[in-house]
Amino acid sequence: MGAKGVKAIVVDDAGGAKVEPADKQLFDKGRKALVDAIRAHDLTKPGGALNSYGTAVLVNIINEAGGLPTRNFSSGQFEGAAKISGEAIAKACEERGGEGTMGHGCHPGCIMKCSNIYPYEDGSHHVSCVEYETTWAFGANCGIDDLDAIAELTRISNDVGLDTIEAGNTIAVAMEGGLLEFGDGQGAIKLLNEVGAQTPLGRIIGQGVEATAKAFGVHRVPTVKGQSMPAYEPRAIKGIGVTYATTTMGADHTAGYTIAPEIAGVGGKVDPLSDEKKGELSRTFQAATAFIDSTGYCLFIAFPILDIPEGWNGMAESVAGVTGMKVTGEDVVPLGLEILKMEREFNEQAGFSELDDRMPEFMRYEKLPPHNEVWTVSDEMLDSVYDF
Ligand code: SF4
Repeated sequence: MGAKGVKAIVVDDAGGAKVEPADKQLFDKGRKALVDAIRAHDLTKPGGALNSYGTAVLVNIINEAGGLPTRNFSSGQFEGAAKISGEAIAKACEERGGEGTMGHGCHPGCIMKCSNIYPYEDGSHHVSCVEYETTWAFGANCGIDDLDAIAELTRISNDVGLDTIEAGNTIAVAMEGGLLEFGDGQGAIKLLNEVGAQTPLGRIIGQGVEATAKAFGVHRVPTVKGQSMPAYEPRAIKGIGVTYATTTMGADHTAGYTIAPEIAGVGGKVDPLSDEKKGELSRTFQAATAFIDSTGYCLFIAFPILDIPEGWNGMAESVAGVTGMKVTGEDVVPLGLEILKMEREFNEQAGFSELDDRMPEFMRYEKLPPHNEVWTVSDEMLDSVYDF
């Protein structure tokens, strides 16, 4: 869309037709079970972790686990993590007041409300929202511990139309390439402004991580299929690395969020540093996610429904109630696998093969502090994910 000069599509729903459920009774039953699960789970309930601190509640947790990519994926811990965390964002909102708020819904009708409005010092609206990936990408990954600078980098990204994960990773690669010092928040703001101004340097940065790495001769390039990695270090959290490597999207955490059992203890508990059964784990998460994504539900419903079976079944019933399809909780993963197969076929037709399902080479030999781990998952395990 950006290449075609399209910045946004706005839909005016005035006078539009309402969706009428095919089976209202079933829809209401499923919806109630799903809502009850959301309201009961510690992560998603009103006043729970996501509602109080946003997704950035993860900053301190992932940092503690040694999996917060820092200074262009050269460490798994950032000494300034607390300053860019969800707790710090909530404190700024509380102290500055005005329009600053946590517990903001990015979507009409959301009952989890994990978004926020980050305020300027005088309480006026600076940007919505500073979430986990964003505060990490411009924060820890660039060595920046200044929330106001991170908020401004987010505002510029929203204004120009940049994805904050790709933009933050690109600045980090530029820093490693010697263009700026790690931690230089004001320099990063100036650099990102060049993208919107379309200066010669801005046009390189605007091409993203891989182009910037080539331009500045950087070998530590955290991408899969050309897409840069999000805020979980695959050397410290192996299952999410399997998802990054194998999903048809490129390095995408949302395609199969194994962080749930590997870190949050949701849907079971597995050792993040171990390779064991991570292929199966990622495949199951990718399948369930493909189903949820195809419904239009926000992915954060996954936390309660993974822990509360009535919520899982309720989600499926709500889909059956709206569409009239005969879907139950047992159909979620098999239908998700069918979706994955179609996506995979699309990629194959576009020229991708299993050779594209690989982690960047540097992760195989550079040890990541503090666990001093390298990427150890075998290519056979990666290839097994889509072997079904
Ligand atoms: S729709 Fe999802 S991402 Fe948006 S505020 Fe609600 S829980 Fe958060």
